[in-house]
Order: sequence, then structure tokens, then C-alpha cells
Amino acid sequence: MNANGVPGGGLAKGLAITLRTMTRRSHTQQYPDVSPELPPRSRGVIALLEENCTVCMLCARECPDWCIYIDSHKETVEVPGAARPRQRNVLDRFAIDFSLCMYCGICIEACPFDALYWTPEFEYAEYDIRDLLHEKDRLGEWMATVPPPPAHDPNGEPAKEELAAARPAAAGRPAAAGRPEGSRPAAARAAGPRAAGSRAAGSREAGPRAAGPRAAGSRAAGSHPAGSRPASEQPADGPEAGEGGRGEAAGPVES
Ligand code: SF4
Ligand code: SF4
Repeated sequence: MNANGVPGGGLAKGLAITLRTMTRRSHTQQYPDVSPELPPRSRGVIALLEENCTVCMLCARECPDWCIYIDSHKETVEVPGAARPRQRNVLDRFAIDFSLCMYCGICIEACPFDALYWTPEFEYAEYDIRDLLHEKDRLGEWMATVPPPPAHDPNGEPAKEELAAARPAAAGRPAAAGRPEGSRPAAARAAGPRAAGSRAAGSREAGPRAAGPRAAGSRAAGSHPAGSRPASEQPADGPEAGEGGRGEAAGPVES
């Protein structure tokens, strides 16, 4: 007797559920015969764009699991026209131990040079846990699986980087004749601060950030245009790595 007091009611209800389930269409994903369609922002594995890494060590310092291992050395670079040679960091080793990683994504968020990316690739299980330590060559191979970024919102606010990039160009323009330096034309005043923003928004369409994966907002392999100087050759903003270990940062980059 069930709760309603009808004899055999519970049995009939159970059988009805069984029959309904038997006739329902199955939604089983036939993995591995059929690859699952994962959301583009799935956290499968971390890819490294080595050219962008300046060995600033921020990712290794911020990683809560301490599973990022970085080694580097300094190299002297002769810059034509410069008073003295400059020094830059050269990445010797970059490894992530995915047996320790908890896929929090902090390293990717912390990287100021867009050198780390999520990819939805997840088929890298190993029989030996030591093989889950991916060195930089293998991390670099994952770059091929980084998905393209979502399309820009045409009505969205321009990124602050784009506004900052547009500012020096406007400031460097020669002042119009008869107009005091630094004053804005009436049309520009009428347009208000949005004028600069709309210009930047327009430039987004044709800019390199729209070209590759991880354009504005989300970071992409193609976010650095072909032919541009890799970030590893640029002076690092942040603290710099010492050789051989996480968090052993030296002082600022010598120039
Ligand atoms: S995802 Fe989190 S745990 Fe994994 S390497 Fe990055 S910071 Fe460390
Ligand atoms: S640039 Fe810095 S934060 Fe980014 S991957 Fe290299 S060491 Fe890590």
C-alpha cells in the first residue's frame, strides 16, 4: 500500500517510471568513438606560448599548488644606438605538473603577457603519474588546440588597453593652426569622451586582436601580430626571475 492508500499503487507507479524510461531516447555520449562537444572555455589543459613568456615568475608565485617550475638565465643583447647593452631573460624550463594542478586558472589570469591559455583538450591521461609533468615543448604543442575567442560585442565598451593605445597617438598629433596646443576642436568636445572609445572600438575589427584566438577580452595565440617582437624580447614590467626556482625573483630588468 502506498501513501495514497491504493493497494498496488506504488508498484504501478514504479512500473510506469520504468516503462517511460525504457521508451525515452538515450542521450549517452559514445565516447571515445564520438568526441564530446565541449564548451569552448572548458578547462582541459594549459598551453604555453613560449615567445610571450618573459620569465616574470608571476604564474609560479601565484599557483596555489606550486606545480609550475621555471628555470631561466640572463642574456646580454646589443641594441643598436643604445648606450649600453641590455639584458633579457631566456626561458630554459617551463613545466606544469598536472598531477598536482587543480585547474583553478590563477596562473592564466596572473600572466601579464598572455603566455598561458586554456584549451579544452583533455585526453592526456597517463599510466605513470610522472608523465603528467608537461615540459615546455609539450605545453607549446597544446597551443594548436586553443579555441578562437568569441566574437566582440559591437556595443561593448572598448578595452582600457585600446584606449591607452589610442591616447599617445592623439597626443602626438601636431596642434591645429590657430588653436592652442592641447585644446580640442568643438566637434570633439561635443562628441565627449565616447569619441575616443568609438575610434578604438572601430579599430578592434581590423586589429590583430580580432585575427587570432583569444582576441580582446580573452587572450589568444594570435593576439600578437605576426612579425611583432615577441614579449620575451621586451623588457619585463614585473619582477624578474632568478635562475632555478619559483619565487626567487631578482630585481627589475637591467636596461
Ligand atoms: S591552474 Fe591553478 S593549480 Fe594549475 S598550474 Fe595554474 S595556478 Fe597552478
Ligand atoms: S610571462 Fe610570467 S606569468 Fe606569464 S607564463 Fe611567463 S613567467 Fe608565467
